[in-house]
This record gives sequence, structure tokens and C-alpha cells, in this order.
Amino acid sequence: MKFGGTSLGDASRIRQVAGLISKRSDCFVICSAMSGVTNTLVDVAGYWKSGNNGQARELISGLREHFKQTCCELFDDDEATTIATGIVNDHFGRVMDRLVTGYSIHNENWLLARGEIITSEIIAHYLNSIDIPVTWLNALDFTVTGSDGEPSVDDMRQRLERLTGEKPAGRFLTQGYICLDHQGNVTNLRRGGSDYTATLAGAALQAGIIEIWTDIDGVRNNDPRIVEDTFPIRELSFDEAAELAYFGAKILHPSCVWPASSNGIPIHLKNTMEPDAPGTIIRSGTQRKGITAVAAKEGITIIRIRSDRMLNAYGFLSRVFAIFEKYETPIDVITTSEVSVSVTVDKDSRLEEIEEELSALGKVRVQSGQAIVCVVGDILEQHQGRAVRILDSLRHFNVKMISYGGSRNNITVVVPREEVVDILRSLNSFLFGSPSKTIEPCLISQV
Ligand code: ADP
Ligand code: ASP
Ligand code: MG
Repeated sequence: MKFGGTSLGDASRIRQVAGLISKRSDCFVICSAMSGVTNTLVDVAGYWKSGNNGQARELISGLREHFKQTCCELFDDDEATTIATGIVNDHFGRVMDRLVTGYSIHNENWLLARGEIITSEIIAHYLNSIDIPVTWLNALDFTVTGSDGEPSVDDMRQRLERLTGEKPAGRFLTQGYICLDHQGNVTNLRRGGSDYTATLAGAALQAGIIEIWTDIDGVRNNDPRIVEDTFPIRELSFDEAAELAYFGAKILHPSCVWPASSNGIPIHLKNTMEPDAPGTIIRSGTQRKGITAVAAKEGITIIRIRSDRMLNAYGFLSRVFAIFEKYETPIDVITTSEVSVSVTVDKDSRLEEIEEELSALGKVRVQSGQAIVCVVGDILEQHQGRAVRILDSLRHFNVKMISYGGSRNNITVVVPREEVVDILRSLNSFLFGSPSKTIEPCLISQV
């Protein structure tokens, strides 16, 4: 069971979560940080990095008060409250001490991990204090990335076995998102990474089911932060879920589907606020005839490489890809013509070096500020004309790239990010026949 930040947003939500955990005698619980905490820690790191320790200290004090207030509202008895506020003071004392040692990326990652550690310690203490026994585990003892920066199910299984024995019984509670790198430094699985920890742990423990508890009833057919009248999709195949997660559906971390799909373990998305609602089940073998959902991802950069040398040449693409590999930058969408190739990336930290090396292969043009919009469903050739009709509905948009045919269940376009809201709205009415009002014109990155 994985509980996201909003599910742990305040004392009453934590009580609700405790009720859900109490119903299971054997479970492995992954906690995110209380909602807003990681965002604040990111802001603290920003001030720290820019040498503004005064502002950093102010935010840290606010966070400490927020945790203490939650503890006072959560615990009924004085002794348990004192222990909980002691946990909070102890952690924040250490954070303040670290602050004076100066900023480094290792210190930043250490700081970001505090949110999940403090939240999970408080919740474990709360559960034990109300006679729901749980064993608290430190995720840094079993979530370790390899030299490629990715965790592995086998490695996690071995580490967990050492901690809990081969056949663990009872309730365990730990953190998502945080991990060690292969050199033993604290790091994390990127924002939203608790989902990824949950599916890795589910696979490592060969769980019957992986439950992801969040603040909405299931995966919707469109982004509910932008389009008002979305509806839940009750069943998704692993492939569809992976495409939606990768192309922007924030409800799932982009990498969290593969550990479940490669081990055949269903993922059940559930709503903490409405535990009896059916949610969404993600598993293999779901058959669909229509269009399932639309998702969008901002922060995309297009890189176009044009070279006459590509004409009839072999090995050109592999030289292009080798440059992206060298700078550890994944490519999302790719289109080619006889003399040019265009790719998109969402990681732009190595862009300058990539551009420089690509210039040796041809003329390079970079366009930032783009977005990927992805339509997921049964789109391929049996449905004659379906892809054409989808594209035709986008004729008023400034479509810069189209990717179709890479998988049977997706068609992807790249547009300027200012067009995302309108394109999601337009696709909603075209594909699902709803009036699709927007909630507010806004960018996804702002919600
Ligand atoms: P948690 O804190 O539980 O990890 P997240 O905020 O990461 O929750 O993910 C849940 C949110 O994802 C929802 O509240 C919703 O606003 C957003 N979301 C974006 N796209 C979708 C979608 N297609 N279906 C459901 N929720 C979505
Ligand atoms: N707390 C982390 C974040 O906000 C991880 C997570 O919630 O999944 O990104
Ligand atoms: Mg999340």
C-alpha cells in the first residue's frame, strides 16, 4: 500500500490512512511526505544554494511548526504527543545543523529525504500508539540505485530479505522516493517517486497486489487539473498505463509501471478519501476498442538535426543517438525524413554539450517551450481512419511533430506549450463527446 502526500495531508487524513492499514494484518506500507513538504524542502534547497540561509531557516521553522501542529492534533495522549514532537525537534535540529555546513548536491538530497523520513516516523509511532503494530523500516537500507542511476527489483529483494527475512509477516511501514546511489550517497527517484518505490517493493516482495492510494477516484480520461468533466477509467492495460504515466498523467510516476508489469502484479489505484470507490485496476490482458485517455507533458525541447549526409547513409542515426547516450539524456519522441531527424527531450541540463556535438553531424536547431500530447487507446490500423480523424481534429493547432505507429495504442503530437490547455479541451470534446470546459486557463507546471 502506497499513500501519497495528499492522503497524509493532515491529522484527520492520517487517521483515515491508519484505519485502512488496520484492516490488513500483512502489508508493506510506503509513505510519501505530507503534502507540500517536498515542495517546501525544494524551496529551502534553492535558498540554501543561493546563499540565502536566513530565508531557508525561516521556511524550515515553518515546516517544523506544521509537523508539530499535526502531531498535537493527531495524538490523544500526552506521552505519545511528547514523543512525536521530540521526533520532529530532533530531525529539525539536525537540519539546522546541516544548513551551516554549506550547500552541496549531497546536502540537498539529504534534506529532500527528511520529508518522507519524518512523516513515516510519525505515522509509525501513531499506529503503534493506537495498537496497530507496525515495524518501521528505513528505505535507504533497501532502495539503492546501480551505476545507471536506476534501482533493480532483484537488488531490493535481496536487501529486503536481509532485513525482514524470507517470508516477512505482519505490517511494515517505510518511505517511498528516497534511496542511496551506488556510492552510498542519499538521493531520490525523482519527484513523485514513491509510486516507483511501491511497485519495486511490490515486485521484490512478490505481492498479490500493489495499491496506490491517492486523492482521486482512479486514472481519468484527461487531466482533471485542466479539464473539468473527466471520468474514471476502471481498467487499464500495463501498456496504456505506462504511456499515460510517461506522457504526463501525474497520478503515476513515469517509471512505476514496469516493475509491476514485468512481474505480472496488478496495480490498484484507490482514493483514500473514498475508499469504497472502485478506482482503477491496471493489469495485463485488458482489451479495449476505443480511445482510453489523453495526457500532456510540458517542459519539452525539440532538437532538429538536418544533414545531407543522412541521405542513403547508414549509421547516421546511431551517431546521433550515441551523443544523447553520452550525455545521459533520454529521447522521448522521434521523427525522421530523408535528410533530417527531430527528437524531443525533457531533460535539458546537458543541452549545450549535446548541441555542440550534434553540430559536427549537421545543422542543429533547438526549440524549447514545447509540450507532448499523447492520445492512448486502440488506435492502430484495424481502425481505418481513426488516427487521421484525430489529427484532423487538431488542424487549428501548431503541430510540430507527429509520432504514430510506434505502438498500437498511442499517437503523440508535439505542440507549443501555450496550446496544451486548448488541445486537451478540444480532444476531450472530439474523443469523448463532452463539452470539456477548462477549469482555468493555466499551464500544467503551475498546478
Ligand atoms: P499523490 O500525492 O497521492 O502521489 P499526485 O498529486 O502525485 O498524488 O497524483 C494525483 C493527482 O494527479 C490528482 O489529484 C490529479 O490532479 C492529477 N492527475 C493528472 N492527470 C491525471 C489523470 N489522468 N487521472 C487522474 N489524476 C490525474
Ligand atoms: N514526496 C515526493 C514528492 O513530492 C515523492 C512523492 O510524493 O511521491 O515528489
Ligand atoms: Mg504522486
